[in-house]
Formats: sequence, structure tokens, C-alpha cells
Amino acid sequence: MASAFNTRPTTNTATTARSARILIVEDAPAYAEALQQTLLLEGHTVQHATRAQEALARTRVEVPDLVLLDLGLPDKDGYHVLSELRARGIECPVLILSGRSLEQDKLEGFRLGADDYVTKPFSALELLARISALLRRVQRATTAATASTPAMPTGAVRRVLDDGELRGKFALTARQVEVARLMAEGCTNAELAQRLGLSFFTARNHAEQVMLKLGVANRAGVGAMLLEEVGS
Ligand code: CA
Repeated sequence: MASAFNTRPTTNTATTARSARILIVEDAPAYAEALQQTLLLEGHTVQHATRAQEALARTRVEVPDLVLLDLGLPDKDGYHVLSELRARGIECPVLILSGRSLEQDKLEGFRLGADDYVTKPFSALELLARISALLRRVQRATTAATASTPAMPTGAVRRVLDDGELRGKFALTARQVEVARLMAEGCTNAELAQRLGLSFFTARNHAEQVMLKLGVANRAGVGAMLLEEVGS
């Protein structure tokens, strides 16, 4: 499923500021490998466990930002991992990734505290979009909890540059303007691809071009470039 994702992850300069630590719990090497490649390309840090006990041991050392959880594991099943995590008060998003497509399997997963359930075989783009949605939800909850707004100079008012201004100021193409706006919203390359109907690599190239033209080192810097201070 990840045949389109086979470039070396280290060549990805469009690493996101929102990269997450993701634990893959999967005993099938083909799936684990494909998932790992895909997530690395998106700029995430990946750990991999093939057994339930190994997964639980890893989460004792470090709680991941998200868990991708297979159900059929060699020792205990994924449900056991999920219920143990929740029993220990670990609330990170858990996305079950399983070949079991019965409603009762899904319901059991959600009952035990899963946040999402994707049936194999799955689309890599859809999976990445779901992962991003889960991570964003956590980020929003965290932001709301700390109730802190980004520091802005006192009295400064900023407005969003319009498309024509962006094209003129940074020599962006119309497509790159679209890409820049979506990046400012926090879209990953996979989300760009999906929203704009592009291939993953085309989306990634656009994202890299946009960052280059805007003169920012990472995608977190894109949003600020689309604004202009209009005095106090
Ligand atoms: Ca399995």
C-alpha cells in the first residue's frame, strides 16, 4: 500500500513542526514497514512494537503522542493493550488498525477507549488524515487547557494578505498561494494532497517551494508570512 512512499525519509525537508511520537503496534512486517515509512515521511518519530507486552513496556518508558494499534498480536490482543493503557491513565489517542471489520470489533474498541478505527487494507492518505485529525484534537485541547494565546506585540493589528499581494510579494503561483494558506492552517503534506487533489509528492514539492519563496525554515513559519502588521 505504501509503494508510492518509497523515497528515503531523510530527504524530507518539509518536516512538520507538529511532528509526533507515534508507537506502531503491529506484528505483520509488511504493514509495520509501510506504516513506518509513511509516518517518517510526514516528519513523525516512530517506535515499533510487535507484541502486546513490548508495546506496554515501551509506554512505561515514554508515553507516545499517538498509538497505531493492531488487534491480532502474537501474545495478547490489541484490546488488552488498549485497556491496560487506559487503566494506567494514559489518554493519548489510540487508532486501531485492524483486518477485523465486524461492527462488534469496532464497538469493543471504542468501548475500551479507542479514538478511531481503520480497517485493513487502508489508504495511506486517509490514515494520515485521520492521524492528523487526532493530533490536532489533542493540540486544541492542550491549547485550550493552558488558555494561552500566542504573544503579539501590544496594540499590533495584523491583516491577512490577499492572493494578489501574496503573488506579488513572494512570487508565488496561484497554486502555491492555495498551498501556503493550507499550510498556515497546519495541513500536512498528505492533507495538502487530499485537499487539492494532488499526489503526495506534488504536494510536498509545492510545500517546499512555498517555504523557499517565503524564506522560512519550516512549515510553522508559514502562517506569520501571510500576515501584515497594519499599525497600532
Ligand atoms: Ca496482526
